[in-house]
Amino acid sequence: MKPIVYADNAATTRLSPRVLEAMLPFLQEEYGNASSLYSLGRKAREPLEDSRNTIARCLGAENREIFFTSGGSEANNWALKGAAAFLAQRGKYHIISTAFEHPSVLRTLEALKREGFSVTLLPVHENGIVRPQELERAIREDTGLVSIMYANNEVGTIQPIEELGAICREHDVWFHTDAVQAAGALPIDVVKEHIDLLSLSGHKFHGPKGIGALYIREGLRFPSLIDGGEQESGRRAGTENTAAIVGLGVAMEEACQHREENTRKARAMRDRLLTGLLSIPGCHLNGDREHRLSGNLNLSFAGIEGESLLLMLDMRGICASSGSACASGSRDPSYVLRALGVEEELAKGSLRLTLGDLNTEEEVDVLLREIPATVERLRQLRGWRP
Ligand SMILES: *Cc1c(COP(=O)(O)O)cnc(C)c1O
Repeated sequence: MKPIVYADNAATTRLSPRVLEAMLPFLQEEYGNASSLYSLGRKAREPLEDSRNTIARCLGAENREIFFTSGGSEANNWALKGAAAFLAQRGKYHIISTAFEHPSVLRTLEALKREGFSVTLLPVHENGIVRPQELERAIREDTGLVSIMYANNEVGTIQPIEELGAICREHDVWFHTDAVQAAGALPIDVVKEHIDLLSLSGHKFHGPKGIGALYIREGLRFPSLIDGGEQESGRRAGTENTAAIVGLGVAMEEACQHREENTRKARAMRDRLLTGLLSIPGCHLNGDREHRLSGNLNLSFAGIEGESLLLMLDMRGICASSGSACASGSRDPSYVLRALGVEEELAKGSLRLTLGDLNTEEEVDVLLREIPATVERLRQLRGWRP
């Protein structure tokens, strides 16, 4: 079998061997319910609280501010719906967000609009970055919540979170950030950055899928999303997924511990790849060159269909993404690239490559060989010349 180059770490990441090892006992002999009082149950409780501890520490938060969820999508739904329910009681019906949020934010905002909320989506400009003064200008008397992602999942651009948070705090508006792409990859400090609510997900930093967390700043009156038992201080019912929670904690610990070295390594590989690929005629980088996640490249190739490029790369053992989060079968270009003002033709010819700490220089060599050849082949087939 051909070797596979996995260059889609923004979609998901490989489970770390240490994470798997830490999880296994809880899928086998340590099967107790973490809420039971006998020792088998208590044995599952402690590692669960250790995991909460680790996550809190990596975010600069307190243990009691971390609530486990089934992942990033649930955390985003809970943050937005929970905040909206509470703020509506105070007559605050206006929410500010951006045009390039993850669908779990944008679709939730659509649902809230149907319930009578009004939503302002800030522009993200050609560089894929929100301007703080535009946030400040958009805040109204009835604004209750701002939700702006920490780093974008398609173009990798990093937002000026501390400045945005300070504006929200000053205007007494709750600030939520979808930090699913940032957690484990960037240093986060919820206190310094004035964050009230933050979502993260395990499988984006070598943890298991189906587990994440929502940070809820202490003092926020926040309703539950799932009613039932008393788990998660009565705010999120359901028997704890002990193995996944333990895995999440270990993954977070590893990511935080090796963050600087991982960043340096991914950036060096990414930059070499970028330099090589930009020498292809008609190749453009989407989003800011500097303020982006260290492993992220989002490129557009004139005269190419992104989907065809992906399929041909797949045949060569390369996993990448078109950067388009649209439903398969739809030929609409990425709404994220459209929000950056990328013209339709180039948005359709996009390729997202996201490298992580498990990628190697040899794999970069493979990408530098295969991608230009594939682009050239596709252009020949279409009779397109730069
Ligand atoms: C992956 C992702 C999500 C969704 O997380 P899940 O755990 O897969 O539900 C949300 N936001 C961003 C920015 C993401 O990249």
